[in-house]
Amino acid sequence: MMPGRLLSCFVACLFLLACSDQEPDKAELFVFGTLVDISLSGADQAAVKAAFLDLQQMFQRMHRDWHAWEPGQLTTINQAFATGQVASADLYLVELIRQSQNYEKTSGGRFNPAIGRLIRRWGFHTSDYPIQAPIPTADEIAELIAAHPSSQDVQLHFVGNDQWEVRSSNPAVQLDFGGIAKGYAVDLAIERLQARSLEGAIVNAGGDLRAFGSNQGRAWRVAVQNPLGGIIGIIEIAGTEAVFTSGNYQRYGMDESGFRYAHIIDPRSGWPVSQVMSATVIADSGISADAAATALVVAGLDEWSEVAIGMDLEYVLLTDEKGVIYMTQAMLARVRMSTETAKKVVLLD
Ligand code: ADP
Ligand code: MG
Repeated sequence: MMPGRLLSCFVACLFLLACSDQEPDKAELFVFGTLVDISLSGADQAAVKAAFLDLQQMFQRMHRDWHAWEPGQLTTINQAFATGQVASADLYLVELIRQSQNYEKTSGGRFNPAIGRLIRRWGFHTSDYPIQAPIPTADEIAELIAAHPSSQDVQLHFVGNDQWEVRSSNPAVQLDFGGIAKGYAVDLAIERLQARSLEGAIVNAGGDLRAFGSNQGRAWRVAVQNPLGGIIGIIEIAGTEAVFTSGNYQRYGMDESGFRYAHIIDPRSGWPVSQVMSATVIADSGISADAAATALVVAGLDEWSEVAIGMDLEYVLLTDEKGVIYMTQAMLARVRMSTETAKKVVLLD
């Protein structure tokens, strides 16, 4: 129906993919270091093209404004925080800050996007994986932790025209939205698609996704990947749910002694997490699912329920380093699995 075609390739590349009348229209965008798959159901070709171009522009703006180390709105704000200055922020960045403050609180500090210095010091402000930079010393980590960076240190002051002044009372605060940017981007994309006359759509950012409506009359379905290979099972999406996974298996570093470390850091110890390989959640929005998945990886098997209670999560799936799959009862009822996989699942309660 629509020929595969490269439209442009700046920050976000957009590929329109061929499809048949029985299939949704598909496009791929490369953004946030991830391939974003967008599938639209029930639209004519002109509407599909307009929707894809709109999303491409939106993702490009987000990439520019929210990037943690490429110069843009966020790096300007972080520079101002470090020197006690005031910077300006737009509506979307302010929403990221407010949601961060909320999730830092509800996750008991396990999700903390103010630890940009730690993330940078561990070498994760790069697109090249695995990282091979030397790991920080215990003294450096202790110093970064002692400064107690928190998103609660950030103050917002509305100045009009969708603009805010932002400042931090703590110069150690460096915002890094790597743990929620994808979730918020997926939410904004879904919101824009809902405003169009479509039967339904799914926006899938490297396995992290949200949908609405239906796919040629059927529910949207997604596969949950097993970090050790293959899939754990299939989830059918209800309404406008989001399904997000955080893992320490794709992006990691390795030092010369072979010590392998995750890109998710426990803000309390300053060290990368190790026990949980991946955490998958189903939640009502992409941003809450993204923050929750990151917080659950930090919490691990001992503390997962504190995060589930604090963040009001029903559907939780964890996998550990030995490949054991854990699910809450509610999640178990949502994942369609082979009998062999189902027999091995350990119930979380
Ligand atoms: P993924 O990219 O695998 O989906 P996440 O959503 O968990 O994983 O995002 C990981 C990113 O979040 C890291 O690369 C870093 O930018 C940031 N981050 C790391 N640790 C934390 C933390 N404890 N709280 C908030 N953000 C974090
Ligand atoms: Mg996350």
